Amino acid sequence: MRKQIAAANWKMNLTLQQAEALMDELNATPHRLSENQEAVFGVPFPYLINIKNKLAGKKNVFVAAQNCYSKKSGAYTGEVSAEMLQSIGTDYVILGHSERREYFNESHAMLAEKINICFEYGLKPIFCCGEPLDIRETGKENGYVETQLKECLFHLSAAQLTGFVIAYEPIWAIGTGKTASSEQAQQMHAHIRAVMAKKYGAEVAGSISILYGGSVKAGNAKEIFGQADVDGGLVGGASLVAAEFAAIINSLK
Ligand code: PEP
Repeated sequence: MRKQIAAANWKMNLTLQQAEALMDELNATPHRLSENQEAVFGVPFPYLINIKNKLAGKKNVFVAAQNCYSKKSGAYTGEVSAEMLQSIGTDYVILGHSERREYFNESHAMLAEKINICFEYGLKPIFCCGEPLDIRETGKENGYVETQLKECLFHLSAAQLTGFVIAYEPIWAIGTGKTASSEQAQQMHAHIRAVMAKKYGAEVAGSISILYGGSVKAGNAKEIFGQADVDGGLVGGASLVAAEFAAIINSLK
């Protein structure tokens, strides 16, 4: 059974004190995770160790970095390597978020390298894909997302993609308050699974957790997560509010 995941993406928000207070508040807010469910916290680099420590002893709860560099080590001032992330016990790495693609010019080729290095160091990528508004408005979203999958993932082996995590995040729904309808989400998630199945077979495709991202909140999570091919969410704004994120966790299938 593939995993159902509620992943928080805090982006560049919160001081350490605010981040720790948020985790304390969340821990005090009733939420539950069953055997096939996970909560993942995508926190800023400087707090990874602190938040990991806050989660010590909790089952099915993990931390994610929001990026890593594609090279092993060396003269890359300001960058953070996969090996560094591994050495502090990071579990997941969010890669290919549309904000990184847009503001930091991350290309398909660079993302493919980042995914490779994550695998090399035992880090689990959460690979983001999704189309901008003009592509959606011209009905080209399936082809657009298919290209992102092919260019960034198709060099990987079936073993690497078994249990892999993809986040479909339509750019027009990120931070805009405009959510894709549950039908739109299901349609694209089924398409993503079909693209992966065509290349790797139904078993591998069926093991991939496909998260939806784009203005998920407590009020819409249950309906979106209830779709057959939606295996949870990658959540920005609402993950900064303990009661909202606890309710989102409780909305997992
Ligand atoms: C995100 O940044 O991954 C995201 C989905 O943000 P929001 O939930 O705020 O739309």
